[in-house]
Amino acid sequence: MSMSDFSRRLIRWHKQHGRHDLPWQNTTDAYRVWLSEIMLQQTQVATVLPYYARFLERFPTLKDLATAPVGEVMALWSGLGYYARARNLHACARVVVSEYGGQFPTDAEALRALPGIGRSTANSIATFCFAARAPILDGNVKRVFTRCFGIEGFPGNAAVEKQLWTLAEELMPAKQADIYNQAQMDLGATLCTRSKPRCADCPLGEICVARATNRQVELPHRKTRGELPQREVTLLILRRKNRVLLERRPPVGIWGGLLSLPELPEQASAEVFVAQRLACQIDGVLSAPTAIHTFTHFRLHITPLICNVTAHPRAMESGLEWHDLGDLEHIALPAPIKKLLTALG
Ligand code: SF4
Repeated sequence: MSMSDFSRRLIRWHKQHGRHDLPWQNTTDAYRVWLSEIMLQQTQVATVLPYYARFLERFPTLKDLATAPVGEVMALWSGLGYYARARNLHACARVVVSEYGGQFPTDAEALRALPGIGRSTANSIATFCFAARAPILDGNVKRVFTRCFGIEGFPGNAAVEKQLWTLAEELMPAKQADIYNQAQMDLGATLCTRSKPRCADCPLGEICVARATNRQVELPHRKTRGELPQREVTLLILRRKNRVLLERRPPVGIWGGLLSLPELPEQASAEVFVAQRLACQIDGVLSAPTAIHTFTHFRLHITPLICNVTAHPRAMESGLEWHDLGDLEHIALPAPIKKLLTALG
């Protein structure tokens, strides 16, 4: 197969079978394209669609986003996961406004220097908005490459990734870079899916190594790792009638910057901690069933303790806030915490 054969097949396929009507397509508005690119990192289109619409409704321009409080951005992002993306989104909007007068730079290298924008995302924006000829390498493209060319090794491994970038550069067609990049994403998302690739319908079917050798399930190789480390945490659900006490997490670490439930230090007594640290009085503590949440690098066992608050100071310490249980939809909460509190009713 020649290099141009690969891109030709994809571009031809995309004309008829690619996605053409997603809300961030058919525009060269870098704000809209950038927003979609960040949301689509690690998240599927169907999940992104309503968030994308809500963000644009609330922040129609980059300046609206840059001038909004970060807490509001986090709240709108709540439920999409990987919250560093939301913090970087806000930081990036501010940098583009303060350093570039509100217009994204047109050069891929300059885009890549902005918060939260990696090489593939920078190239994608440069291609779709500024007619650059720059390859992309997101999860979908990696899957298509490793299968089609029979590439061994975990794609996250630095040496394998370097090999994939070299291939991406070589395969880049001279023209129609935007259609070609979109075609790769669409093929990975709709045909060459992780668990059920539809090889019979694939434009690369005749040249695909994985299909010829029946190794679609094996490729791309998965990361070899042992059992995930386990961590345990006790969280306090302090209730007062229909309200619950939430505490803002530190900006770095898991759930950085989000509201969550106060965490009980190891070995501490809930009654003493609540009285001394939160200045509340409670009448008894009830254990709720443990919830398990799996992160990429560890598994968290959450033990919730329900405390009925009988008295608390009129003004809480900074970082502590009372919220209505019926208002959870509008608060930036980590998904497992939202689930715990929703179960309380
Ligand atoms: S033939 Fe199958 S495995 Fe190969 S690229 Fe197409 S869908 Fe993926």
